[in-house]
Amino acid sequence: MKVLIADDDALSRKILQDALLEWGYDIVVARDGKEAWTILERADRPNMAVLDWMMPGMYGVEICSRLRTLNLTNYIYVILLTAKNKREDIIKGLESGADDYVIKPFNYEELKLRLKIGRRIIELEQNIMRLANTDYLTGLLNRRAFLKRMTRELERCQRERAHLGIIIMDIDQFKQINDKYGHQVGDLVLQEVSATLVNSCRGYDFSGRYGGEEFILCLPGADKWSTYQIAERMRSSIECQKILLPDKKNYIKVTASFGVAAMLPDQPKSLDELIKQADDALYQAKNEGRNRVIMCPLN
Ligand SMILES: [Mg+2]
Repeated sequence: MKVLIADDDALSRKILQDALLEWGYDIVVARDGKEAWTILERADRPNMAVLDWMMPGMYGVEICSRLRTLNLTNYIYVILLTAKNKREDIIKGLESGADDYVIKPFNYEELKLRLKIGRRIIELEQNIMRLANTDYLTGLLNRRAFLKRMTRELERCQRERAHLGIIIMDIDQFKQINDKYGHQVGDLVLQEVSATLVNSCRGYDFSGRYGGEEFILCLPGADKWSTYQIAERMRSSIECQKILLPDKKNYIKVTASFGVAAMLPDQPKSLDELIKQADDALYQAKNEGRNRVIMCPLN
């Protein structure tokens, strides 16, 4: 768990730094309010912050209230640390959006426990987010989470004038597998095939379960030919894959059809447009006899 320590007093900073490191936290250190704010604005911002109230540049309370107006995707747990110990100060601190308040000079045990509370809350949030974004069966992103991430990725690629590839894939005649072997085997097939997809991806690609037996992949930076090649690699891996049945003796084999589309750096497309093109290509792959990759002919 990464924690921001912001304090303008060098000694105080050193004490906090040593304590938090000893308690197993990763730390980022800021020497004034402005620096603290810059760190909190970054995409890789820490999940927790211990902020001194009185700092040049920006006060801890001010950082708190500004932080709470940002529409962040993840929560930042803030502990205000200050020598101010009057009741109205505490109220003002909490009112600004701080989660907790520790009076200086702090007691080691107390701060350790208060950080632990924060950590518990952040971990709980992370767990809930993971459950909300993940497909239970395959562990891939669910449709909603995939589309959300893909929207961000598409915007980034357009901004940076980069290629972006998309693959939509559907397991062939999946209904027959379910009918013949039952849903338990159907689920197993979905798990095994999704694992193969992930293994055939590059590190920065991401994938989601789009529908029942339909999967979707986003390949940032990949032009249409590399996207095609990756889809072809996936197709052939799935074709060769032996899926061991629960009896641990027999296995089955499946095939899948793929539709591929891509965005060129100088031809921005909307997410809907890209998905529609990949979907149409997939439809064509099914119509032409399945177990094949079809690339959208446009662009
Ligand atoms: Mg200070």
